Amino acid sequence: MTNGKTTLYRGGAIVTMDDAGTEHEQGWVLVDGTTIADVGAGVEPEADTRVELEGAVVTPGLVNTHHHLYQTLTRARAQQADLFTWLRELYPVWSRIDAEAEYAAARTGLAELALSGCTTVFDHHYVFPHGREGLIEAEVQAARELGVRIVASRGSMDLGVSDGGLPPDELVEELDAVLAETERLASALHEPGPGARVQLAVAPCSPFSVTGRLMEESAALARRLELSLHTHLAETVEEEAYCLELHGCRPVEYLERLGWLADDVWCAHCVHLSADDIARFAATGTGVAHCPTSNLRLGAGVAPVRALLDADVRVGLGVDGSASNERGDLFGEVKQALLVARGRGGPTAMSARDAIRLGTRGGATVLRRDDIGSLEPGKQADLAIWRTDGLELGGADDRVAGLVFTAPHRVARLVVGGEEVVRDGALVRADEVEIARAHRVAARRFAA
Ligand SMILES: [Zn+2]
Repeated sequence: MTNGKTTLYRGGAIVTMDDAGTEHEQGWVLVDGTTIADVGAGVEPEADTRVELEGAVVTPGLVNTHHHLYQTLTRARAQQADLFTWLRELYPVWSRIDAEAEYAAARTGLAELALSGCTTVFDHHYVFPHGREGLIEAEVQAARELGVRIVASRGSMDLGVSDGGLPPDELVEELDAVLAETERLASALHEPGPGARVQLAVAPCSPFSVTGRLMEESAALARRLELSLHTHLAETVEEEAYCLELHGCRPVEYLERLGWLADDVWCAHCVHLSADDIARFAATGTGVAHCPTSNLRLGAGVAPVRALLDADVRVGLGVDGSASNERGDLFGEVKQALLVARGRGGPTAMSARDAIRLGTRGGATVLRRDDIGSLEPGKQADLAIWRTDGLELGGADDRVAGLVFTAPHRVARLVVGGEEVVRDGALVRADEVEIARAHRVAARRFAA
């Protein structure tokens, strides 16, 4: 029985990322409407349309678990700064954000991600200057137009510099207003259940920009509305010192006190974790968004990802905001995750397949999505199709490992819910030249 028009993608290497890590050297994927009907090799099923893969590699669409799309407007600033210095320089610039600029920024960031094989994007937006409305709606509109899934978040900051926090007082909000706005956005935008194109998460910014009370109230609201919770955590040694001075404990202990170590929470970075912290993450089901390039760019360190995976902690990948990883390329981040794991733990610390798993299945589990992240019957038809006949893969008999070692790449085709949103390496629903041009106009207002 079929649900709609069937399409058979045939004649390529299929990397399913199912529990067993099944791959088909010469295989096919049958898409029926918005979902995957079957995956296999050998005898091929009938279909309305056949797409020749010509030796390409098919992976699940990548899942980005941490980003700040608005930061495409402010790349290459504070070039040699640590996190706190970088933030202090950029907060006043970011205070110029409005819905029009957010839309231009989101189109650019989402287009970059789509062209790097990403089908689902989490975005953490936490800068809400007073009186500027429609920021989240603007990025959701951009995602709908380009055809990718988005998990947007209503972030927040309520601990200004005069109360011992890091952000300037004019960028912090009142607790009640934050919670009311989060609830309004959830009821307007959040789609529960499989196949969701738009979801909302609750995401107070960090221990150094949010009060403990807002962290607790945010968790209570998210649990009442059945939304996921997200924040930044343990990114730098300076954050640890700040936490010890202000809260009298290290970041992970602080989060635990606030009821934030739980299976509905994932945290970005987690660079500075002790063995005991990792055990607490594992025991509570708390997830991690690993952002290796951003951590290197800000000189923050390298997260202990091998130890997290060995402890069965949920780990996904994030490009992080474009002001600290100027390149929004998620497959590039797959390679980066492999390299930093090996830099920390030696050549066996992470395989190419492990790295792809982080960027696909791992990301889906972090976002608590069991409908995406692998190529299996019944899952959403989110496919990234990678050519292997270019210069850089010559001589690579193992096309799958070769793809990781030679990244980044522009994806050849990207399928989201059965619909192609990238074809022949170009956006189907938008013109990337026009997006870049409009973005440059919007970015002028953010010039240093
Ligand atoms: Zn971030």
